[in-house]
Amino acid sequence: MPDHAQYLTAEQQDELRKIANAIVAPGKGILAADESTGTIGKRFSSINLENTEENRRRYRELLFSSDACVAENISGVILFEETLYQKAKDGTPFVKVLQDKGIIPGIKVDKGVVPLAGTFSEGTTQGLDGLSERCAQYKKDGAQFAKWRCVLKIGPQTPSYQAMLENANVLARYASICQQNGLVPIVEPEVLPDGTHTLEEAQYVTEKVLAFQYKALSDHNIFLEGTLLKPNMVTAGQGCTVKYTAQQNAKATVEALSRTVPAAVPGVTFLSGGQSEVDASINLNAINAYPGRKPWALTFSFGRALQASVIKAWAGQDANLGKAQAELIKRAKANGNASLGKYTPDGEGEAAAQSLFIANHSY
Ligand code: 13P
Repeated sequence: MPDHAQYLTAEQQDELRKIANAIVAPGKGILAADESTGTIGKRFSSINLENTEENRRRYRELLFSSDACVAENISGVILFEETLYQKAKDGTPFVKVLQDKGIIPGIKVDKGVVPLAGTFSEGTTQGLDGLSERCAQYKKDGAQFAKWRCVLKIGPQTPSYQAMLENANVLARYASICQQNGLVPIVEPEVLPDGTHTLEEAQYVTEKVLAFQYKALSDHNIFLEGTLLKPNMVTAGQGCTVKYTAQQNAKATVEALSRTVPAAVPGVTFLSGGQSEVDASINLNAINAYPGRKPWALTFSFGRALQASVIKAWAGQDANLGKAQAELIKRAKANGNASLGKYTPDGEGEAAAQSLFIANHSY
């Protein structure tokens, strides 16, 4: 057995470990605000707002200029590249606005999902070309972590061996490039909720996908202590007629993770995947309250489930800024509590219970 070539120095490992642990500090999670230009346009169309660079900047300023108490529950924000270089109205770069609150800036570095030929409409995610140079620049510009999303679909013939292998491998290549440039990679192999599959089927597939993932991360000598996993919670398909309790979802999720995710990984930051804001909080809470062995922090990296009420309250109007920011603080607090198993849905409004499911969701 030859010695394996180590690609990180002890100092580099320490830096990555520190960043990853700060992101998943108790009671804290991530605001995923890295919607691509097309995706944020879909969110804006729900409030009849034009998708201009200035409106995107105004909206992100609303999020990032919320009261500093938001940092009690939000440790990091994932940005789209455009946002990393935007500024608040008073000229302060968004990166500094976040850093001044003690929030760690992160960056989405993938270039989106493309078809995987020879499969039943499965995909892989592109963006490796020039990634090392981009990561080096993002690190200089204040980013400390990165995100790359892959998607797997549950169907009669999917996910295929080809899709699981390819997506696990491209995520591992991305993770390796990030770590060499001082960015903590968030590894996101999302099993989509589209379909009529049962909870048991979702658990089976999630376990297989995660097993492929950690084999690939090992193959690429990834320093696991300096990574985070961003998986789907295990839930039945959107079209499944059987309804499951949050406790059943929690059991399936914790079992799937405990069978596949090494204890060296500091944290699991779930995506919300089209669940309503309240369901996402209830399920995250149940996962943390579940009595099984859980060696990792289990917290949130929500997009839709942290922002749906915010966008609705804002409606594109400056006059609604305070109201919209109050919604963000409310959801951040709810999910911070859920990450500690201390959330109760008392006092949640009807809007927060609305489904945020989008078929075949892209980011
Ligand atoms: P949702 O929470 O809306 O699923 O999105 C999170 C995310 O960052 C997907 O990549």
